[in-house]
Amino acid sequence: MKKEFEKEQLIKKSENFSEWYTDVILKAGLADYAPVKGCMVFKPYGYAIWENVQKILDEQIKKAGVKNTYFPIFIPEKFLKREKEHIKGFSPELAVVTMGGGKELKEKLVLRPTSETIIYEMFAKWIKSWRDLPLLINQWSNVVRWEKRTFLFLRTTEFLWQEGHTVHETHGESMKEVKRALNNYVELYQNFFAIDGIYGQKSESEKFPGAAVTYTYEMLMPDGKALQGCTAHDLGQNFAKVFNIKFLGRDGKEKIPWQTSWGLSTRSIGALVMVHGDDLGLIIPPRLAPTQVIIIPIFQGKRGDEILEKNSEKLKNILKDFRVEIDLRKEYSVGWKFNDWELKGVPLRIEIGPQEIKEKKITLVRRDTGERSLAPFNSSASKIKKILDSIQKNLFLKSRQYLKENTTEVFEYNHFKDTMKGNRGFLKAFWCENPKCEAKIKEETKATNRSLPLDAPEEAGKCIYCGKPARQRWIFAQAY
Ligand SMILES: [Zn+2]
Repeated sequence: MKKEFEKEQLIKKSENFSEWYTDVILKAGLADYAPVKGCMVFKPYGYAIWENVQKILDEQIKKAGVKNTYFPIFIPEKFLKREKEHIKGFSPELAVVTMGGGKELKEKLVLRPTSETIIYEMFAKWIKSWRDLPLLINQWSNVVRWEKRTFLFLRTTEFLWQEGHTVHETHGESMKEVKRALNNYVELYQNFFAIDGIYGQKSESEKFPGAAVTYTYEMLMPDGKALQGCTAHDLGQNFAKVFNIKFLGRDGKEKIPWQTSWGLSTRSIGALVMVHGDDLGLIIPPRLAPTQVIIIPIFQGKRGDEILEKNSEKLKNILKDFRVEIDLRKEYSVGWKFNDWELKGVPLRIEIGPQEIKEKKITLVRRDTGERSLAPFNSSASKIKKILDSIQKNLFLKSRQYLKENTTEVFEYNHFKDTMKGNRGFLKAFWCENPKCEAKIKEETKATNRSLPLDAPEEAGKCIYCGKPARQRWIFAQAY
């Protein structure tokens, strides 16, 4: 008898969510801790998900006329100091290079925490006239923001992202670009990550340091905490003034342009893990899954095995429009392999055994529901497409339902506090827009102001904290 290879049990999501999160990332092979404090290593499976995100987002970005570039990782420290809010916001998390080539540097260099300053220094050189506008660029890069404690994907000293930077003649045009970027992120999260969320505007104290207005997509995690999925900033003319970006307008007069910046990072993969996974492991939505379909031949005896292998290859060819793999490993039992692919969250499993060969059928097993069904061997592609679409939709609807069930409308501060002590979630409440109330709420309940939903109507209400008149309801939650 074949000796069973013992598989270490995964911590259950239903029992200990935060330990499950780290455990599933390590065991499914998405990432590992790096020997450098605060850093992580992307393993091939985790990086493959990021590559899929990049492909989709890069296509959206290029379609919007934005071109890719690359700027240095080093930024002269003095550039960061030019915009006061910007340096104040980032200075606690900067990594600074003071030595180079064995000598102390005259000019300290910062490892980019974000690239506004170095990019805008160049923009000032490149932009002369209205004919140079709009200037639309993006870069795929790493950024460094010092962290004391690693939280895989969510909090690491170095992470990967894209940052878009655009310059426009008018505020109307730059606002159009901010909304375009935000809409693309919403589309990415809803249609590919299958995660519903709330998109809106950040409060003054929560906005990006140096921005006029920040927009974001906030998602709700299974432990009732919020995760910010991206940001899109209306930079107004703040950076343009500081970096001396000017252009000669159509009327021959000198003008200051309007700018935007927007970004989405590998944090998004943390959300993906948290939202969809279960006690058995990850569940990757089909549209992002590096492997959408795994074929597992049920090996039994030598002669039969060869036929199974040949048929698996044949099937893979029939399913060439999908991302398909065959698990031909013979050193593991079938049961072990089932567990392994469930842990990795591959959306659909195909089983082929002697019975299936005889009947010219295959067995399909959905990862999200565990539901089994049969499909004819030669014409299984259309059924598989339907199932993958249905998994994608099912995951999104589950996420939408969870968001709905865990968004609480609160009108009394006691109710607010009780909800934060209980299941947390998103709390929708009137706020007078005074930062003092916001700070007190955070101090007393850990809930921060997440955003003002873009579709929030003007209403007459009372601030949840001080009772003074308020005109809109904002979203509060404890954040990651
Ligand atoms: Zn108030």
